[in-house]
Amino acid sequence: MLRTRFAPSPTGDLHVGSAWTALASWEMARRSGGVLVVRIEDIDPPRVVKGATRSILDDLRWLGLAWDEGPDVGGSCAPYIQSVRAPLYESVLDGLAARGLTYPCDCSRAEIARVASAPHAGEELVYPGTCRDADPAREMKRAPALRLRVPPGSVGFEDGVMGHFAHDVLRAVGDFVLRRGDGVFAYQLAVTVDDAAMGITDVVRGADLLSSTPRQILLARMLGAAAPRYWHVPLVVATDGTRLAKRTPGGTIKQLREAGLSAEEIVRTLREGLATNGTWRKEPWPIPAAWCRIPSPR
Ligand code: GLU
Repeated sequence: MLRTRFAPSPTGDLHVGSAWTALASWEMARRSGGVLVVRIEDIDPPRVVKGATRSILDDLRWLGLAWDEGPDVGGSCAPYIQSVRAPLYESVLDGLAARGLTYPCDCSRAEIARVASAPHAGEELVYPGTCRDADPAREMKRAPALRLRVPPGSVGFEDGVMGHFAHDVLRAVGDFVLRRGDGVFAYQLAVTVDDAAMGITDVVRGADLLSSTPRQILLARMLGAAAPRYWHVPLVVATDGTRLAKRTPGGTIKQLREAGLSAEEIVRTLREGLATNGTWRKEPWPIPAAWCRIPSPR
């Protein structure tokens, strides 16, 4: 049975871009008689905004996008809140460590930046492998991060929306972090472990995560899990093509709702943007000009 999920980070109100991926997951589940899971990705404490989980869930319900398993409805894969799933991530890390697949790294960002190959604008630094062969019992300069020993070779997949995508993870990002020095589990780890543990067959999310996918497929393989199918929908942008920011007028569902738009109207507009005659849109979708004329939030 198809199982898909919507996995918001509670960093603020539900924005139009997230609502669009939620709608795409919801439709995929409803069309196939599958299951929609909602999972709250709150593993990074400084980014979590108080009250955001409640407000995101309220907005989803108001839009009519009900889910089958999630934080407030329960389900066989509970809990659906990442901050309380830490013991699972910890045990997965223990398993990888026991197989010699991880190592501690006490490099600072600045140290990595000095040696890393210069990335293209906007890309992540490629970790040069400084600590790969260092003695793990050495005295650390600071609380170390834990990194995955990434095998060389291309990791590719067929995206349901964007088509073929592949890269060599070692060359593109290097041995990536699974747990930061401050003890916070990395998104790449938590998302891969949870998608596997929750039996997710189809991941629908924004195209900004396309380049994370080879890392997650690689990690899933190393954990002996089947990687899900992926559907990366284009980003929702402001009318001038720039990324939606928190303060973009008309950028959140709450603003549209307070301005008097109905849930039906919003969902209909988002649905029209997502696909035409069953063919997924591939280019970024600018929000309707009328939505941008809604007064900016204070
Ligand atoms: N929690 C992530 C976000 O809100 C989404 C992760 C995912 O869908 O894989 O950006």
